Amino acid sequence: MSLKLDKAGEFDSLSASYLFSEVRQRKSKFLGKNGGEVIDMGVGDIAYPVCETVVEALVRASLEMGDNARFRGYPPESGYQFLKDAIARFYVEMGALIDAEEVFVGEGAKSDASSFCDLFGPAETIIPEPVYPVYRDSALMRGNSITYLSGNKENDFLPLPHGLAKTPAIIWLCSPNNPTGSVYGLGGLQAWVDYALDSGSVILFDAAYSAFAPEGYPKTIYEAKGAESCAVEFCSLSKSAGFTGLRCSWVTIPRGIKLGGARLIDLWRRRQSAKFNGVSYIIQRGAEAALSKKGAEECAEIVNIYKKNSRILGGFLKKVTYVGSGDGSPYIWFECPKGFTSWEFFDRLLGEVRLVGTPGCGFGPSGEGFFRLSCFATEERAREALGRLEKLSLWN
Ligand code: PLP
Repeated sequence: MSLKLDKAGEFDSLSASYLFSEVRQRKSKFLGKNGGEVIDMGVGDIAYPVCETVVEALVRASLEMGDNARFRGYPPESGYQFLKDAIARFYVEMGALIDAEEVFVGEGAKSDASSFCDLFGPAETIIPEPVYPVYRDSALMRGNSITYLSGNKENDFLPLPHGLAKTPAIIWLCSPNNPTGSVYGLGGLQAWVDYALDSGSVILFDAAYSAFAPEGYPKTIYEAKGAESCAVEFCSLSKSAGFTGLRCSWVTIPRGIKLGGARLIDLWRRRQSAKFNGVSYIIQRGAEAALSKKGAEECAEIVNIYKKNSRILGGFLKKVTYVGSGDGSPYIWFECPKGFTSWEFFDRLLGEVRLVGTPGCGFGPSGEGFFRLSCFATEERAREALGRLEKLSLWN
């Protein structure tokens, strides 16, 4: 039966989400025909389990849930105070003045970021590309018009607002970036914050990879002066603490930011109370443990392996082609050799050395001719991948 109702938003304008399914299809077709194995550096999922301190906290909290005196029901929508306090301390340590009441715990930066668009009416949206597709799809679903800014070799995949009209807009920024691994320095972030303040825009800053920012680079948008008046930040424990399967994130909304006469923080609180019932107690205790001194040290050891992988693969690639990603970034972003398109290179890498990555063109038009390798692998796997990359016949 066909419903006699209209579709919501602008679903027709969404392109089919085919990138990873096409990658999977080509990989399984290859394996079906040739047998054996491949190394898959395409997906951005973690390779190591959560650390001991987190596991202990999860177990303790699980036991509490089975205890008459200590079990908990619905959690507070914005998160338990103990976790909001831990997150506020995380910001204070970075020199950012975020307090616990400006923190909202969520179940993943993907859903937080896309849900946040509920707060805005029809608005111009500025999106640098190549891009994590969630910002684009969320804007399109709401029927917002999008101005794409090209990230390319000339601007080191870090577009700036120079020359943009001072029209109020929703601005998406992600640094360290997925897919390009590029990282804004303080000057770049300041340019964006100044532009947002001048134009009455909001910056939605995705800091999901902040743990990977190189020494001396900002880990939070709040390092830029004035960001507390125009920027909302999304952060996640998925990649920094191995929470992709546990699910925990947060949004920080400085209380001074207003939208249509209301405080943005109050609009989000209202939205969450209508549509969200909070993150489980057990997970929040795990998140608190990940942010503790001991937990953070254990998580950093794992992040350091991913960073090392990045240096292992990036070190070689820098000798043979242009590499756009920053030092120790979670994704290596490089130019395909010999003018190959992204998909041509994908097929060649798979066919010749049995290595899978992600074609850059899947993240936006400026990604054509580029390629992404994920560094979320065990060190052993990354070294094997390096051996295969070195054997590829295309480099000279
Ligand atoms: N933001 C970026 C840029 C990402 O690459 C990802 C996941 O790959 C997310 C957000 C989603 O994070 P989460 O697992 O917290 O939903």
